[in-house]
Amino acid sequence: MEQKPYKVLLYYMYVPIENGEEFAEEHLSFCKELDLKGRILIADEGINGTCSGTEEQTNRYMEVMKNDPRFADMIFKIDDSDEHAFKKMKVRYRPELVTLRLEDDVNPNETTGKYLSPNEFYESLNDGDTVVLDARNDYEYDLGHFRGAIRPDITNFRDLPQWVRENKELLGEKKIVTYCTGGIRCEKFSGWLLKEGYNDVAQLHGGIVTYGKDPEVQGELWDGQLYVFDERIAVPVNQKEHVVVGKDYYSGEPCERYVNCANPACNKKILCSEENEHKYLRSCSEECRTNPRNRYIAQHGLTEEEVEERLAVISN
Ligand SMILES: [Zn+2]
Repeated sequence: MEQKPYKVLLYYMYVPIENGEEFAEEHLSFCKELDLKGRILIADEGINGTCSGTEEQTNRYMEVMKNDPRFADMIFKIDDSDEHAFKKMKVRYRPELVTLRLEDDVNPNETTGKYLSPNEFYESLNDGDTVVLDARNDYEYDLGHFRGAIRPDITNFRDLPQWVRENKELLGEKKIVTYCTGGIRCEKFSGWLLKEGYNDVAQLHGGIVTYGKDPEVQGELWDGQLYVFDERIAVPVNQKEHVVVGKDYYSGEPCERYVNCANPACNKKILCSEENEHKYLRSCSEECRTNPRNRYIAQHGLTEEEVEERLAVISN
């Protein structure tokens, strides 16, 4: 296989960072010096980042980070890429690494679910006494997920604890296994489940990304594609087979192409074909189609008559 010129890194670590705001500023200068692009969050409780660059730039970044005793044990997940996966380099200081806004915060270094290797996780997918709970948002699940996993009906991770409280019957008395993209959300969420009174809680160590790269399981029992928070949007996971689970928002046909609703106030993620994007003015509803700030109409310079014509076709 031909080597691609760029690498995309994904990493996190829960470790106390003092003077986080100052550290974030310094870290931004350092990343800019290296010519990396990406998005890194710094909090008092740790670091969560994803960035892209050439092999040389990303190697240098990892080397410097690993020389810092705080990040010496940090695990970097590395993807090959034809180009940068981001347009800019951003480093932000935030109160929390992942936004759960719990009344009683969880420190994953003290309380977290059992770590499962890809192989152990694969076993649990086939175990009738285990429920597998997706710890991501609905639009991530809809593009791809583990076969048989429970889909929480949420668009923001912070709503997950409330959703669990309202859907207790789905979890019952069984063992619970959770998974997310790279593992960071599960570190906290599985800890929260333990505090909530669930006794047998485990998490996929390293997340879906690690599972897809594992030489043994090779992403097996993953259906669809993985939603990623960079310009690639969707990446493959299952190396053995590709089952499409995404459905076109308008027609229900198999689809793995995400666009954002053209109404800037809505911005909802919609799976749709190119044909339906044009037919429905890239909008999720009549209200969004006729919104005066509709971006599709502006981008395509549609006149009022042209919009009327399209709306007439849809209502037929
Ligand atoms: Zn909309």
